[in-house]
Amino acid sequence: MLEIDAIILTNILQKEKDAMVSALTKDGLLSFYARGVKDNKSKNAAAVNIGVLAKLELSEGRQGGLHLKSGTLIKNLSARLNNLLDYASFNYAIELAMKGSEAIEDKEKAYEDLLNLLKADDKASFIVHLLIYIAHNINLLGAKMKVDGCIKCGDKHHIVTYSLDDGGLICDKHFDNFLFKKYEKDEINLFRFVFMAKQDDAYRVDLDLSYYLNLLDQFTRFLNDSVGINIKSFSLFKPFYKN
Ligand SMILES: [Zn+2]
Repeated sequence: MLEIDAIILTNILQKEKDAMVSALTKDGLLSFYARGVKDNKSKNAAAVNIGVLAKLELSEGRQGGLHLKSGTLIKNLSARLNNLLDYASFNYAIELAMKGSEAIEDKEKAYEDLLNLLKADDKASFIVHLLIYIAHNINLLGAKMKVDGCIKCGDKHHIVTYSLDDGGLICDKHFDNFLFKKYEKDEINLFRFVFMAKQDDAYRVDLDLSYYLNLLDQFTRFLNDSVGINIKSFSLFKPFYKN
């Protein structure tokens, strides 16, 4: 018998009332079969919904594989979704957790990061939490960003842009018109902020949605082109990019 805290990432219907569930734990990804959880009367149903932190009791099946014996809901991330933008951000985070977990070596840190997102207070918009979560994941995936000074010379005071592909902030002396595009102070500060902030600091930033969407767009491209992770849920943000 295995007793473990886990965050539910996928829950796929099997037969009529069963589900195949994957969850993130401090040791990495875990899959198990959950009998009867798609039945309304199931006492375990609430513990295996996507975005739930649950205490799970698992046993080894006769033919191998893990089976759910019982599950207790501790906290539900989806309980704080208020609108379409929250919903899109939630889906993005869960998909990144699923796709990043294989590639991230520090399993415990990956779990902790998602746990911090789940446990964060709701003083800030979810999309800011998502940006912080992505930034931490980018670091965990090995693409360490330098955000305490210029990537070339360490200068802290004359930062004019940043480049994900080049690994962080860039000062005016190392700025190149052909390679980079200059950003506003607010854009640079947001970039720096999401890499340095903890989830509970999210409320400290309060910018127009377009700033968040712009950074999200860049993060998504970077994850796809440089890390090899394609986040399909990004398409849920499409309606917000039109205006
Ligand atoms: Zn420099």
